[in-house]
Amino acid sequence: MTAERDDDGRLRELASGLDRTRARIEAACEVAGRDRADVHLIVVTKTWPTSDVLALAELGVADVGENKAGELRAKRDECAATAPSTSLTWHFIGQIQSNKAREIARCADVVHAVDRPKLLAGLSRGAQERIDAGASARLACLVQVSLDPQPSPGRGGATPEQALALADQIAGTEGLALRGVMGVAPLGGDPREAFTTLREIADRVAATHPGADWMSAGMSGDLEQAVAAGATHLRVGSAVLGSRPPLG
Ligand SMILES: *Cc1c(COP(=O)(O)O)cnc(C)c1O
Repeated sequence: MTAERDDDGRLRELASGLDRTRARIEAACEVAGRDRADVHLIVVTKTWPTSDVLALAELGVADVGENKAGELRAKRDECAATAPSTSLTWHFIGQIQSNKAREIARCADVVHAVDRPKLLAGLSRGAQERIDAGASARLACLVQVSLDPQPSPGRGGATPEQALALADQIAGTEGLALRGVMGVAPLGGDPREAFTTLREIADRVAATHPGADWMSAGMSGDLEQAVAAGATHLRVGSAVLGSRPPLG
């Protein structure tokens, strides 16, 4: 029972999870009549070790998602230290506490859940620090739109009206680049309907902001519905990595 053999087993497990997920995306694109190249897979590695992130990179994954600033930073630093040639785009997909906005902006490449104006000052400051430290581009931001029938604390998201105004504000904030919208299907609801609503808001945002044409939607359980509604970025965790260990 060497560590090496365990690593091999995990690599095979990840490879098959990835194959299955890629096959689902391909099939969903075919059904929807969409070009596979327009749908990007972000593998959500939250709670899993850095060794999994490196294995995924070896298997051709280019985008990973995390939902805690400290965890993202630690894994990113560890990847840079142990495999400096690994090139990954790091997506922050979690809810953003305003006192963490600056830190998140400093360590992520894309921030998905921007849902209130109060976050922009911290994000802007962190994004500019990143640029000062040598980052070549402004920080990509998505507006999180709430797709829940009733707003509930902890789920985040702006109302559709707030989302359009927030998109304008992000586009006008130094250091930030508006890229589009993000949404999470309601718990227990029909994801199809929610993603169709998100698509409408995505189109309205893109109409005023050319280039802000991303729609981040779809997880392990509903990626087919998201692809059908026009998602450009899927955030998939458990279908690739297995069920997450319970959070401590
Ligand atoms: C954890 C998480 C995901 C991935 O969920 P799975 O069901 O494991 O695919 C996607 N989006 C967000 C915002 C998440 O927090």
